[in-house]
This record gives sequence, structure tokens and C-alpha cells, in this order.
Amino acid sequence: MKRHVVIAGAGLAGVHTAAQLREQGWQDAITLLGAEDHAPYDRPPLSKAVLLGTATPADLGLGVDLDALGVTHLPGRTATALRPGDRVLDTDAGPLPYDHLVIATGAMAVTLPGTGGTPGTHVLRTLDDARRLRPVLESRGSVVAVGAGWIGAEAATAAAAAGSPVTVVEAAPHVLAGALPPAVTEPMRAWYAEAGATLLTGRAVTGVRAGEVELADGTVIGADAVLVGIGSRPATGWLAGSGVPLAADGSVAADAALRAGPPGVWAVGDCASFPSARYGRRLLVHHWDNALTGPRTVAAGILGRAAAHDPVPYFWSEQFGRYVQYAGRHGDGDVLLRRGDPDGGDRAWSALWLRPDGTPTAVLAVDRPRDLAQGRRLVERGTPLDPDRAADPATPLKAAAAR
Ligand SMILES: Cc1cc2nc3c(=O)[nH]c(=O)nc-3n(C[C@H](O)[C@H](O)[C@H](O)COP(=O)(O)OP(=O)(O)OC[C@H]3O[C@@H](n4cnc5c(N)ncnc54)[C@H](O)[C@@H]3O)c2cc1C
Repeated sequence: MKRHVVIAGAGLAGVHTAAQLREQGWQDAITLLGAEDHAPYDRPPLSKAVLLGTATPADLGLGVDLDALGVTHLPGRTATALRPGDRVLDTDAGPLPYDHLVIATGAMAVTLPGTGGTPGTHVLRTLDDARRLRPVLESRGSVVAVGAGWIGAEAATAAAAAGSPVTVVEAAPHVLAGALPPAVTEPMRAWYAEAGATLLTGRAVTGVRAGEVELADGTVIGADAVLVGIGSRPATGWLAGSGVPLAADGSVAADAALRAGPPGVWAVGDCASFPSARYGRRLLVHHWDNALTGPRTVAAGILGRAAAHDPVPYFWSEQFGRYVQYAGRHGDGDVLLRRGDPDGGDRAWSALWLRPDGTPTAVLAVDRPRDLAQGRRLVERGTPLDPDRAADPATPLKAAAAR
């Protein structure tokens, strides 16, 4: 008898789950439904080439030919509820029975309270969002980005490159405050000014009205577009009452094999958290690499093979003409080493976090992709390093292993 995998969410994780199922030998039906009315596409170019107007269709592709894989894709179809007891997914166009259901509904942009529907206010999560913002840059309209996180920095890069006056307003005292400590982000502050963007840190936005933003100190900044880039949260509201366990952050609380509770239900990508044995805690990772690699585990599980998803998290960002990459997860007690001196004018540099015993926990590289590649492998393997050699930017990281 033919069995049926239904995948809810046609983003990176959903599409690659379908591809992995075929690659690992699933021969029965696969249905992939997605709320958006587009062919599946890749999100990283949205805040880069799409905003700049230089993206080609190839840039946006996910590299998977769904037709050739015999996957039924239902665009513009939204999952509305789940009835695991009946093995039925309800959608806005009727029920879909399943043998296995993969929840891959990703995340949605967090908005500032009270700004929904304010003219000229934007978020940047979808292709439609990027296409709404692009004309402002094309006409060199002014932009205020709320939040100096990854999205704010990349959008400011695109706006500045397009010739739009751009101001980034950040409530925290430094940029990328949610991800990295000031010791490594302080040199990044200069990148904004160098590109012609104004950066205001330690300044909270208290109001967004059509055409302007108001700060807590009463400052009012005019803007043709206000981009709210203050984070994302799992798109799991539709699962309320389904019996699928949700963590406090709204993610599906999956297990190590990415099973989501009820029999035959799985969860992967930005919508799912998982217990990491590597880090001894539950992780919710909103980065591309996690959504690409999780599907391997889900497909293996559906095919009855034991697998666990426990990656060293990795992400990259392209901002202000620099390639920024981070792999691992640093802890408060880790020792920070710099390779190169950004304060002394080095354009390319990296940072490494080591436990007191020399084991690397994370690496950050700015235009030093080799440091990232080698550091990532050392983090994955837990190879202890000699701190003196690791801090010497002329020594390849792989040659800095403790003897
Ligand atoms: C602008 C932008 C730039 C980024 N740049 C980088 C980068 O440079 N580096 C990096 O590492 N990461 C980057 N990321 C993060 C990365 O793109 C995400 O981690 C990745 O897209 C997650 O994939 P996903 O499939 O889990 O979720 P998504 O890509 O969000 O896909 C989920 C899909 O499910 C659909 N959906 C939601 N609810 C339902 C429903 N109820 N029914 C049906 N369908 C539904 C959504 O419409 C969406 O199409 C970026 C993200 C954004 C938004």
C-alpha cells in the first residue's frame, strides 16, 4: 500500500526534506504545501541581492527539481490545524491525510507592537516583503532600520549601496547584541560609518508613524521606509491545541531525532528546537545551515533509521562588503582570542573562544574563510589548541593544535 508523507512549509527545510526522502529511498507519495504563492525560494538573497535588484532566478533557487523527484507541490496552501489521532492535516483547501507529517513552517518576523498596518513600515522575511521594500531603495528613499542585528545590518548595507540615506537604531548598547559580545562587535561599529550609514545604539524606538520614527529621548527621524528587524519567532500558532508540544519560545519541542510528539509527526528548520547532547541544552537555531542539515535526520527517521540532529551551529552574513561567519556556540566562561587586530586597522580578522582547557567552542571570521573552515572542524572534533599559536594570525588554525 502506498504511504504518504505530507510536508507543511515549502521553504529550505521542507524542500530539502522532500529531496532527502527521495535520496534515502522513499518511493511513495510526497506532498509539499506552502502558504506562499511562489515557487520555493532561498531567503538569504532577500536582504542582499534582491534588495539591491541584482538577484537572478538562479540566486533564489533551492537547487531541487520537485517535478523530477515526483513531489506534489501545492503553493498558496496553508496548514490550519493538525489532528494527529486521525493522521489528518487540515488546510485552507481541505484535509490531507498522512502517514508521516513533517512540520517545516519556519519562522515569521517579530513586529513592534502597534506598527502592523502603519504605512511605510516593513519587515523582511518573504520575497513579497523584499519586493515591497526594493522600490524605496530604487528611488533612493530614506530608510530607518530598527535593530542592528543580522537583518538590520544587511538591509543597511543594501540601502547604503543603493544610495539611500539609512539610519540604524538599536536599543542595546552595541550591534549584534543578541549573538555576540561587545569585545568582538565593537570594531563592527565603524563599518556603518564607513558605508555612509548612521548607527544609533542605546536608543530605543518608542513609536513608528507613517513617515517617521520616534525614539525614547524624543528624537524624531523621518523615513520613507521603516524596516523592523528585531528577530523572528517560530510559525507554529496553527498547532495550538493539536497535542504537539511547544517550547516557551514557540518552537516545536522536537526530540533528538526531530520527532515532534504524536506518532508520525516530525519537525525541522526554523520552527523546531531540539535537545543538543553536544551543548547539554535545547537549541532553537534560525540559520540556513540548520534548515539544510535537519532534513537528513528527518528523512532517515521516516525511513526507519536511527539518526540524531546535533550540529555545530553555523551561519554567515554579508555586510558592509565583508563576509562574516560564525560556527559553534561560545559560553560565558570561555576565553576570547583575537587573530588579527581590527582596532589596529586589519580588515580581515577572526576571533576564537576556548574553554580553560584549550578546547575551542566557537569561531567568528571576518573575511578569513579559512579560519572559519578550519576552526569549525576543530570545534566539531573538540581538538584542544595551544592559545599562543591559535592567537597568531599567520599560523593556520589547524596547525595550532596542542601538542
Ligand atoms: C532576509 C533573510 C536573510 C537571511 N540570511 C541568512 C544568511 O545570510 N545566513 C544564514 O545562515 N541564514 C540566513 N537567513 C535564515 C535562513 O534563511 C532560515 O534559517 C531558513 O530559511 C529557514 O528555513 P525553513 O524552511 O525552516 O523556514 P522558512 O524559510 O521560513 O520556510 C517556511 C515556509 O513555510 C511557510 N509556512 C508558514 N506557515 C505555514 C502554514 N501554516 N502552512 C503552510 N506553509 C506555511 C512559509 O510561508 C515559508 O515559505 C536569512 C533569513 C531571512 C529572512
